[in-house]
Amino acid sequence: MVDNCLFCRIVSGEIPSRQVAQSDTAIAFRDVNPQAPTHVLVVPRAHVASLASASDSAMLGDLLAFAATVARSEGLEQDGYRVVANTGSNGGQTVDHLHLHVLGGRKMTWPPG
Ligand code: AMP
Repeated sequence: MVDNCLFCRIVSGEIPSRQVAQSDTAIAFRDVNPQAPTHVLVVPRAHVASLASASDSAMLGDLLAFAATVARSEGLEQDGYRVVANTGSNGGQTVDHLHLHVLGGRKMTWPPG
């Protein structure tokens, strides 16, 4: 746990969130500023700053599989969805704790903005 990390504080329960699922290694909660009808963040319990600094491939595999499980439980599987890992400044990352965005419920455009 990193003291001044927003997502560490959400994982610990110190800051409330609208949690939708949890596993041994990750939690999923609704984004406070949703960009789609369904917008869930999938966050590892352990602090990792970003995808760029993640070295635990088993954790990354579990995180991606958990994102797919969350998408299924949110009813997104049939119509499809998008999973995003904004990374670093050019990637648009604003919270320095690795997270996957699970977005669905509308048609996504490409390329992203
Ligand atoms: P990123 O910009 O990829 O780092 O994503 C960070 C996301 O965290 C943004 O989509 C924010 O809307 C979201 N966010 C920030 N604070 C909270 C919070 N307290 N609860 C839920 N989502 C949050």
